[in-house]
Amino acid sequence: MHQLSLDIFDTPTVEPDEDQAGGAAQEPIDLLSYGTYIVAFSGGKDSVGCVLNLIESGVPRERIELWHHEVDGREGSHLMDWPCTAAYCQAFADTFRLPIFFSWRIGGFEREMLREGTPTAPVRFELPGGEVRQVGGERGAPGTRRRFPQLSGSLTTRWCSAYLKIDVMAAAIRNQERLRGQRVLVVTGERAEESTCRANYASFEPHRTDKRESPTLARHIDHYRPVHGWSEQQVWDILARWRINPHPAYRMGWGRVSCAGCIFGGDDQWSSVRVVNPAQFGQIAHHEQAFGCTIRRARTTVGHAADHGTPYPTITPALVAEALDPRWNEPIFLPPGVPWMLPAGAFGDHAGPM
Ligand code: SF4
Repeated sequence: MHQLSLDIFDTPTVEPDEDQAGGAAQEPIDLLSYGTYIVAFSGGKDSVGCVLNLIESGVPRERIELWHHEVDGREGSHLMDWPCTAAYCQAFADTFRLPIFFSWRIGGFEREMLREGTPTAPVRFELPGGEVRQVGGERGAPGTRRRFPQLSGSLTTRWCSAYLKIDVMAAAIRNQERLRGQRVLVVTGERAEESTCRANYASFEPHRTDKRESPTLARHIDHYRPVHGWSEQQVWDILARWRINPHPAYRMGWGRVSCAGCIFGGDDQWSSVRVVNPAQFGQIAHHEQAFGCTIRRARTTVGHAADHGTPYPTITPALVAEALDPRWNEPIFLPPGVPWMLPAGAFGDHAGPM
């Protein structure tokens, strides 16, 4: 458990900023009316902003829980994730005294990508008390992928988000009795500014797992995107206000943080992955070669991309060591006297989901 360097629970609540409301007219949200708030917490700035916004809006912290989906799973694959991310998320939760529950598809991204005449693997998720429950994977049809998710706004073609995050969360909600018979708010950090596709998301709507009409389940689940209408500046502003130490990937120059080897990486990002984690880069390049199908189908291999890019100049050995360490060694709140500064990746390379 990290020591609190400021008393977060004395933070004055603020009225929601009208400028931060989503675009189109939505059903008004009664934000304080939910029994449980589930924040999809990647450790990236937008998910951090969601947590801080809930607290600033007066949501009782004892009703907030963080859910982190481990893209590589927990069975030994290290293809896509930043090694430090799970520990960063755990440290954030500890610092804010929030529970965090990890979930993943068995074998993660790599197993799903390597399917060859096999069904999609089951999902595992943590429960309060520490038990890990496994669901699914028994009735799925055999299928073959043997290619990376393809760059697309479609979640069917770009299967990673659906199979490794969205479906994992849905399975964990549907299979937890404790979430029945109450109002639950799922909170995610997509922003309209990021892409045309994301601009079309509603800022508030029933969640895909909602079963409020079911007399047996009575599972009222809404989906809220509190930062949907925010600019990137507003997101950094809330991190600055709370003096949050951003994930080291931002400090090295990444503009978005989820997978280190995100399929949306541009030339400079691939060049930077190759410098920061050559083993990870090598695995991705190896798979591309074995499939005979690259991530950027029309645009050659990640090796070609890396050759044409330039590593971020703000990559330092100390930041690399922090990013590749599966333990988290820094404070979440910057210590007094240490100025909060915009990380090098802010407003920079925004390669990421459409
Ligand atoms: S960060 Fe990129 S590679 Fe990872 S799940 Fe999201 S879209 Fe896929």
